[in-house]
Amino acid sequence: MRKEPDSVREPMPAVFVGHGNPMNALATNSYTEGWRSIGASMPRPKGIVCVSAHWYIDDTKVTAMPSPKTIHDFGGFPRELYEVRYPAPGDPALAERVSRLLKPTSVGLDDSWGLDHGTWSVLVHMFPKADIPVVQLSVDATRPPSFHHDLGRRLAPLRDDGIFVLGSGNIVHNLQAYTWGNSRTKAYDWAVEFEDEARSLISSRNFAKLVQYENLGEPAVLSAPTPDHYLPLLYILPLSRPSDAISFPVEGFDGGSLSMLAVEFGRS
Ligand code: ZN
Repeated sequence: MRKEPDSVREPMPAVFVGHGNPMNALATNSYTEGWRSIGASMPRPKGIVCVSAHWYIDDTKVTAMPSPKTIHDFGGFPRELYEVRYPAPGDPALAERVSRLLKPTSVGLDDSWGLDHGTWSVLVHMFPKADIPVVQLSVDATRPPSFHHDLGRRLAPLRDDGIFVLGSGNIVHNLQAYTWGNSRTKAYDWAVEFEDEARSLISSRNFAKLVQYENLGEPAVLSAPTPDHYLPLLYILPLSRPSDAISFPVEGFDGGSLSMLAVEFGRS
């Protein structure tokens, strides 16, 4: 049951989700049920800032249009997936605030992107009414992991103002090893090993090692062969506060090489 928004002035949770296969948008499974539960159990956000692995560009931008379009940024899926719309409003004022918070990094106010499936495939379950304003933040592909962690830290005041910050990627994301069409494939040893290590480092708040994940050996190399799906996690880690509970409200592997692990800071 949703908490009353004004009952306690506690900070909003900060969450990282593994979005996995875009078809989750249409599915009902343990992942989507977990996302639904995350949304239902927090106070209604005033707005959502989503850092999506699928807006991986050579710049940091935030969507600033009043009505972001639903982007179907994939190929080869059934027609019904292309028919999904997530008509949440944008929030130009929130976009400007994000841009200000991230200074001195220059953040462009974008009016051409929208909501990609990193965002909507999860939000259709988490907030199915699509009535909460959403802005997306890009992931600058030219920057090192520490840059993304620093940006995340600057977003911390949003938690006190009713804004829900969501990172959407996958801690383990290796599409070359992914078994399309067989989601129950046993997870690879390296995938389990890296996810275990990440979970342990998160639980002990040893975030520095997660920022330097490229030094964590072969399992890390295989689990994050490209940085795009891992980096959104680095925005969420510095939003954690010592008083937060840390939980993993969604777990599991899809197709052997996608970790669906979600990390939530703030809900006990
Ligand atoms: Zn993805």
